[in-house]
Amino acid sequence: MQESQLLKIANEFGSPVYVYDGNKIEAQYKRLTGAFKNVKKLKINYAVKALSNISVLKLLHTLGSGIDTVSIQEVQLGLAAGFKPEQIIFTPNGVSLNEIEEAAQLGVKINIDNLSILEQFGAKHPTTPVCIRINPHVMAGGNANISVGHIDSKFGISIHQIPHILRIVENTKMNINGIHMHTGSDILDIEVFLYASEILFETAKQFNNLEFIDFGSGFKVPYKPGDIETNIEELGKKLSKRFNDFCKDYGKELTLAFEPGKFLVSESGYFLAQVNAVKQTTSTVFAQIDSGFNHLIRPMFYGSHHEISNISNLKGRERFYTVVGYICETDTFGNNRRINEINEGDILAFKNAGAYCFSMASNYNSRLRPAEVLWYNNEAHLIRKRETFDDIIHNQIAVDFSTNKENILAK
Ligand SMILES: *Cc1c(COP(=O)(O)O)cnc(C)c1O
Repeated sequence: MQESQLLKIANEFGSPVYVYDGNKIEAQYKRLTGAFKNVKKLKINYAVKALSNISVLKLLHTLGSGIDTVSIQEVQLGLAAGFKPEQIIFTPNGVSLNEIEEAAQLGVKINIDNLSILEQFGAKHPTTPVCIRINPHVMAGGNANISVGHIDSKFGISIHQIPHILRIVENTKMNINGIHMHTGSDILDIEVFLYASEILFETAKQFNNLEFIDFGSGFKVPYKPGDIETNIEELGKKLSKRFNDFCKDYGKELTLAFEPGKFLVSESGYFLAQVNAVKQTTSTVFAQIDSGFNHLIRPMFYGSHHEISNISNLKGRERFYTVVGYICETDTFGNNRRINEINEGDILAFKNAGAYCFSMASNYNSRLRPAEVLWYNNEAHLIRKRETFDDIIHNQIAVDFSTNKENILAK
C-alpha cells in the first residue's frame, strides 16, 4: 500500500489503527496455490490465530481457503464467517476431551496430538474420523519459542510412539483420515521441510484409510530488506512431485493440506500510531507513540523486527530514534532506528503487522484496543470499531464495600 493511502486512513479512522491490504492477502493465497498447481487436490487452511477478524476470514473464504483453528471459539468464529464445518480443521493443543467432542459435534475435522485423548476419543467415537498430529522432531529456524518439533516439545505425538498409536487404532477400530505436522514458524531451509515431509510420508504408509496429509506451516516471510524468505515456488516444485509419487504408491489421490498464518497475512498489515512526544535524553532521542505492547507485543515478546517509517514526513532527513510506547513498563518497539525526522503528531507505520499483532492485543493499562481497517480493491472498510471505555468496564462487577456490616446482614 502507498504511504499516502495509509496516512488518509489514519486521518479518517484515527490512531492507533491496524490496516490490512486485502489484495496482498489475495496475492499471497494465489502465490501459494500457484506453487502447488500440479497437485490435484490442494487445501489451504488459513491459521485463524494469526489474524482473526471476521471480515478477513470472509475474504479468505471467498478466495476458496479453509481454516485451521485452535480453540472452540475460533471454530465458532469460522462458522459465523460462513465456512462450512468440513472446511474447518480443529488443531488444538492441551484442550479437554470435552472441547474436542464439542468441535466434533459441529462436524469439523478433528486433529489430535495426545495419546491419552486419542485413546479416550477413539473408544467413545470410533466412527468419527480423526487426524493425528505427529512430531517429527525436526528443528525449524533457530528460535526455541517458535520451534515446536524438537524432542521436548509439548506439540504432536512423537514419531517414536507410532507403535502405540497403531495399538490404539487397532483396539478402538477408530478411523484415521489424516496425518499432520507443524514444525513451527520461520522455516528458512526448504531441505529441512522436505526432510520432515519424508518422515510424514513414512508415517502415512502405516494408515490405509487416509484422505489427506497436512504439512502445517512455518513459512518465513521477509521482515526487513535483504531478509531470506521461504522459497515457496521451489518448495512447491519439489514437494508436489514427491507428493504425487507418494499418492501413486499409496494407491489413492490424497489431499495435500497446508495451514499458513503468517505467510498469508503478515505482509498485508500496517500498524499506524501517532507520536505523542519526542524526548531527548543525554544519549537517546525517544519517539513516544500512542500505543505500547498492549497493541503490538511481538518486538517485546519475541524480539521481532518490524520496520518503522514516518509516513508524515517522507522527504525528511533521516535521524536515529528509539521508538517506545506509553505503557508503564519497558516497551521498546525499535532501538536506534534510522527514521525520517519525527515531529510530535506525526504518524509512524509499522510493517508486517498482519500476523500475531492485533490478535495478541490486550487492555493492559486499561487502554482501548485499536480499530481495524481492511483495504480491498481501493476501498477502506472499517472491520472493527475502536474500543470505548464501556468495553473496559462492561464485564466488571462493582461491589460496594462502603455499606456497614449491619446493613448487609439486615438484607
Ligand atoms: C500457529 C499455527 C500455524 C500457523 O503458523 P504460521 O507460522 O503463522 O504460518 C499453523 N498450524 C498450527 C497447528 C499452528 O498452531
